Amino acid sequence: MDFSLSEEQQLLQQTVRDFAQAEIAPHAREWDEKQAFPREIFTKLGALGLMGAVWPTEYGGAGLSTLDYAIVMEEVSRADAGVALSLAAHNSLCSGHIFLAGNEEQKKKYLTPLAKGEKVGCWGLTENSAGSDAGGTKTVAVKDGDHWVLNGSKTFITNASVADTAVVMAVTDKSKGKKGISAFVIERGTPGFRPGKKEDKLGVRSSDTSELVLEDCRVPAANLLGQEGNGFIDTLRILDRGRIGIAAWSLGIAQASLETSMAYAQGRRQFGHAIAEFQAIQFKIADMAVKVDAARLLTWRAAHLRDSGQEHTAQSSMAKLYASEIAVEVALDAVQIHGGYGFLKDYPVERYLRDSKLGTIGEGTSEVQRLVIARELMQLRGMVR
Ligand SMILES: Cc1cc2nc3c(=O)[nH]c(=O)nc-3n(C[C@H](O)[C@H](O)[C@H](O)COP(=O)(O)OP(=O)(O)OC[C@H]3O[C@@H](n4cnc5c(N)ncnc54)[C@H](O)[C@@H]3O)c2cc1C
Repeated sequence: MDFSLSEEQQLLQQTVRDFAQAEIAPHAREWDEKQAFPREIFTKLGALGLMGAVWPTEYGGAGLSTLDYAIVMEEVSRADAGVALSLAAHNSLCSGHIFLAGNEEQKKKYLTPLAKGEKVGCWGLTENSAGSDAGGTKTVAVKDGDHWVLNGSKTFITNASVADTAVVMAVTDKSKGKKGISAFVIERGTPGFRPGKKEDKLGVRSSDTSELVLEDCRVPAANLLGQEGNGFIDTLRILDRGRIGIAAWSLGIAQASLETSMAYAQGRRQFGHAIAEFQAIQFKIADMAVKVDAARLLTWRAAHLRDSGQEHTAQSSMAKLYASEIAVEVALDAVQIHGGYGFLKDYPVERYLRDSKLGTIGEGTSEVQRLVIARELMQLRGMVR
């Protein structure tokens, strides 16, 4: 067992850290306040190869491993979790679906510009009445000659109002339940397809979150992504990777909370001492560090399992569940260590706390992760119904 990063991985980590700290972190507060999506950053991330991090070079990607991707996600999230969330939805979900299910022509046409950062992607599964129970999708796609006609709407879609390319799930055969849901790729500007309301959010405010509306939206049959009826089945496989990304994303916030707190505790003096000298503060820092390390080990293990072709559904969910829950705890401790200043916008820890909560909700809530883990451990072995 070797827990160290290779020289290439250390270089990747340093490169992304330098970029994120120089180009993203200084603007994070402004983007958060204005709820502004910084499109230009995504062009720059594209130039660094990070908009198609894990896809093969033949599709414009950087050919990185899942562990490399986790390193990237942690570093970007440390600087601005909103930017990192949009990057995650673009990479793991939208591009991930096209890479997994797309045919050669679709990969060339849609994945390549996404991987290069020329286009931004979004992925629409969730609906008003289909959240955790995403199999309850109501959006429909009806075959009409050599076209499909889609009607319905998607809620909470990351990048929806800025995306050039969307992957959307719709029911193509109601009688088949989850096996009657298919995926479609739709481009911005397609008649009948538009972003709806932009949400005003607690956190990750530099990430765009909007509705997607489909009104008699006609797409050619060639836009069906993967096999008809396989949209939901492919989704489960896509989330296996996605959840490793969200674990790493949470880790970035937790690491930022820990480092900011250590620096603050050294500088802040009370009772004639730096508060870092008080054991109560040291114990908090120690507990935060243990949680961050444990989350990183779970995240990297899940990435390693995926990279070595091993089963990793439960391990991805474990990493996502633990990392997202501890990110909230660690961010909360960071606010406490900052005292009253932690409550002000002048310090980043209040943003870390607001941002961290999304990790326990997006790509499956903590409760859903527990269901997945229990199912993998017990149901699949016939131990429970
Ligand atoms: C900022 C943001 C970005 C997002 N981006 C995307 C995106 O890009 N694409 C996309 O498709 N979706 C996206 N989502 C949607 C997200 O995946 C859902 O919000 C999430 O899956 C939960 O669904 P819900 O909000 O409908 O909650 P609900 O499913 O209504 O859940 C409400 C509560 O009930 C609990 N619950 C539900 N079912 C069970 C059960 N069986 N057992 C125990 N507890 C249960 C939940 O854990 C939760 O605590 C995003 C959400 C947010 C907030």
